[in-house]
Amino acid sequence: MKGLIVITGASSGIGLAAAKLFSEMGHPLLLLARRVEQMQALNLPHAICTKLDVTDREAFKEAIKTAEKEFGPTAAIINNAGVMLLGEVHKQDPSEWDKMFDVNVKGLMNGVHAVVDGMMARRKGMIINVSSIAGKKTFPKHVGYVGSKFAVHGLTENLREELSPYNIRVTTIAPGAVATELLGHTTDKSIIEDYIRWGEESKMKILEPTDVAHAIAYAFNQPEYVNIREIVLASTQQGA
Ligand code: NDP
Repeated sequence: MKGLIVITGASSGIGLAAAKLFSEMGHPLLLLARRVEQMQALNLPHAICTKLDVTDREAFKEAIKTAEKEFGPTAAIINNAGVMLLGEVHKQDPSEWDKMFDVNVKGLMNGVHAVVDGMMARRKGMIINVSSIAGKKTFPKHVGYVGSKFAVHGLTENLREELSPYNIRVTTIAPGAVATELLGHTTDKSIIEDYIRWGEESKMKILEPTDVAHAIAYAFNQPEYVNIREIVLASTQQGA
């Protein structure tokens, strides 16, 4: 059997598309998210679906341990779970910044923590962190989200430096706008309306989750000595 792929946020959007693609590629999977029914409904072979909040560090480690007992060591973790709560900093409830940093940054580091000792010991493995173009440049009303994604870019770059002597590949995936549920959690409805208007006026065809899943698979499928450090992808019509 091929190596175990761990995917966080596999219940919708990019994570769900990656789950289907890596399953088609013949990998056993550990799928992690809070909405376990959505992952179970995929009915993928050799897939363990575990209800997990990525902010729960101990439960994360347990989930990895259980899956590795069944399928062997983790070949790659795709740290994809994320939330985007857009808002203007003077209006936004600070608990929304807490949430984005807890899930997007600390949750992602919990994923790294859960697999890194094993990968270092085996001198083998790959850590794929899903950031965003908002991890490279700023956008209006994105302060908390941009902050969390700049953190993902920075820590991933640093991780690569730290883990390259152990032969561990570390990759950042930075998509532009993708058609998923991500925007729906923003509580400021006027921001959601502006976003929808922007899409309608520009008539832009934004990325599909499968486009991002294919970019992840491209990085993973390189020979082990090749590390694709970063992939930035967006709709052809998305200039900014
Ligand atoms: P979705 O909202 O469709 O998916 C987000 C996923 O994250 C869901 O599976 C959700 O599962 C999971 N998640 C959220 N909070 C937690 C948590 N506390 N614990 C475990 N899982 C959690 O959005 P996308 O697919 O778009 O988002 C995936 C990643 O892509 C994110 O990191 C996002 O920032 C990034 N991205 C998205 C872009 C876009 O335009 N869509 C652009 C650039 C980057 P559940 O609710 O079941 O727990």
